Amino acid sequence: MQKPNLTCSLSTLILGSLLTLGCQADTTESPTGKALEPWQQAQKTEVWEPVPRKVEAPADGAPSDAIVLFDGTDLSEWEGESGGEPTWILDEGAMTVARKTGGIRTKRDFCDIQLHLEWRAPSDIEGMDGQNRGNSGVFLQGRYEVQVLDSYNNKTYPNGQAASIYKQHIPLVNATRPPGDWQTYDIIYQAPEFAESGALQTPAYVTVLHNGVLVQNHVEIQGATEWIGEPSYDEAHGCAPIHLQDHDAAVSFRNIWVREL
Ligand code: MG
Repeated sequence: MQKPNLTCSLSTLILGSLLTLGCQADTTESPTGKALEPWQQAQKTEVWEPVPRKVEAPADGAPSDAIVLFDGTDLSEWEGESGGEPTWILDEGAMTVARKTGGIRTKRDFCDIQLHLEWRAPSDIEGMDGQNRGNSGVFLQGRYEVQVLDSYNNKTYPNGQAASIYKQHIPLVNATRPPGDWQTYDIIYQAPEFAESGALQTPAYVTVLHNGVLVQNHVEIQGATEWIGEPSYDEAHGCAPIHLQDHDAAVSFRNIWVREL
C-alpha cells in the first residue's frame, strides 16, 4: 500500500458541531508519493517575498535612505531648544556647544529611529571632573538622554557616565576614547506608545553602540530622564525632536544622520 503524503491533525471545537481539519504537507514526498530530491525539500523553506528595497551604504557617510541632520556645512536642520536660530559654533565641519547659550533641537519630529552621530569631548578640560567633564547629551524625543561625557579617565556614578541612559541604565562596558578624539554613537530607538487616555501602553526601548561596541542592549526606558527624582511617563507625547544638550562644556558633534524605522 502507498504511504499517504499528508499528515493531519484533527481538533474538535465548541458545541461538538464544528470541526477544524488542519492538514500539513509532508515535505519529504511529492504529491504522487515520490521522494523529493534534497533541492526540492530545500525549496519548501525558501521565502521570496517581500524583497528588501535597496539602500546604498557607503563606507563613509550616510545610507541613501537617511535624513542627514548635519554634514558639517550648516545648521539648517536645527533650531535653538526653545526655537529661534541655533547658537552653536560651526567650524571645520563640526558644530560645538556655545556654552551657556542653550541646547539645540531638530526642526523635524521623530518616532522610531536609527541615529548615527559623532561627538568629541574637548581636550582642554584639565581640572574638570565628574559630570563637569565634557558633558552633553542626546535627548531622544527631547526627553530620554543618552549621556555624552568624557568617561575615559573620569570617575562619576556609572549610571551617569558616557553612553548611560542617564540614571536608568549603566553601559555594559566603557568604550570611551580619550578627550579630543572623535567617538561614535549608533542608536536604535523605539518610541513609547500611549493610549488615548494618555496612559502608557508600551515603554520606549533603546540599543546603543559606542564606538561600535554594544553598550545598551534593547533596554527599557523608564520615563523621561531626571537629574533629581525617579523617571516617569507623566506626559503622553507623539513624535518629537532630537535635542543635543548644552551642559556648559564645549562638546562638538559631526556627521549626524537618522533613518526613520
Ligand atoms: Mg548630559
